[in-house]
Amino acid sequence: MQDFLDTNHIELLSADGKLLTLHDLATWRAVMTGESINQMQEVVRRSDGTTIPILVSAIPLTDLCTLHPSISGPLIDIPNSDDNMWDQVALVVHQDVSTLKEAEALKDEFINLATHELRTPVTILAMGTDMLVSRSERGKGQKLDERQEKILRDMRQATHQLSKITEDLVDVTRLQSGHLKIEPTTTDLIALTRNIIDQLQLTTQLHQIKLHTPLNELSVFVDAARIEQVITNLLSNAIKYSPQGGPIDVTITENLATHEALFKVQDQGLGIPAEQQSRIFGRFMRADNVKAMHIGGTGLGLYLCRELIKCHSGSIWFESKEGVGSTFFFTLPLCTPQPEHPTHA
Ligand code: ADP
Repeated sequence: MQDFLDTNHIELLSADGKLLTLHDLATWRAVMTGESINQMQEVVRRSDGTTIPILVSAIPLTDLCTLHPSISGPLIDIPNSDDNMWDQVALVVHQDVSTLKEAEALKDEFINLATHELRTPVTILAMGTDMLVSRSERGKGQKLDERQEKILRDMRQATHQLSKITEDLVDVTRLQSGHLKIEPTTTDLIALTRNIIDQLQLTTQLHQIKLHTPLNELSVFVDAARIEQVITNLLSNAIKYSPQGGPIDVTITENLATHEALFKVQDQGLGIPAEQQSRIFGRFMRADNVKAMHIGGTGLGLYLCRELIKCHSGSIWFESKEGVGSTFFFTLPLCTPQPEHPTHA
């Protein structure tokens, strides 16, 4: 295989453009380690520099026999093959996905354009409704009757929702084009979380949000606004997807062995169906149970959380059981203590 690639001056790259070694390739892994690989993204770079995005699926044929017990021996008659050789046979499918990629790029371009065009009018609407609500609350201007006040408050809530969707879309397009800026400063994760909990607790009487931590403060070197976005999103989801109410427990601890902060938020809400869990961090992904209940959302929040945590060299994951509840976790590296400067007498 390597000879073939070398002779034809073909290089294989990962989706983010890094050169793949023979051992990284789906084909190698299936044949040599017996691993089954489903739709791994690779890019073929030809000798003239042109590239083709491909999806590679590879399945060791011994697996096929296990999957289909009716298959008792080799599917293809390989002359002079012995049993050992058969162990090293895999079915590999390379699928050219250039057209799909082009369609995806067009879709991204459309989202980008639409989002930027939406941003200015949405900001004007949000500022306008905020100002009208605040004037009416302070008894300024013409007195509104109860119905007019309710309409105004609903308009404010709707414009804020619209503004959140637009901002999420802007972040998605920034992330995809590599233009999302992270500006880290030393931040106390506990104070930041307390603040967010106080704000969100005001929005619900059905839930009791509690912070549990043995620490008074915990310094992390992060972009505070971005980590606030992650925590707000996880907590808002815990509220939104526990429509019956209940406790929401936030726990912050430090792991000195790995030099990380561990953040955990646990709810007793709807949970995520097992068969959709592996895709839940994907863009626009929403589980069937919440869609069936007509709970609104875009499916962008968790995607953004994952990307933002990744930008901070942390990790994010969850455990969930439908009908029982969900727990989301993330880690962030702790601030490295500044080396002490020797004091001169
Ligand atoms: P949105 O809430 O806008 O749909 P997210 O990306 O934040 O988007 O979440 C994606 C999906 O993950 C949700 O639609 C829901 O199906 C599921 N989900 C996220 N958090 C929870 C939770 N705490 N409990 C149950 N389901 C959740």
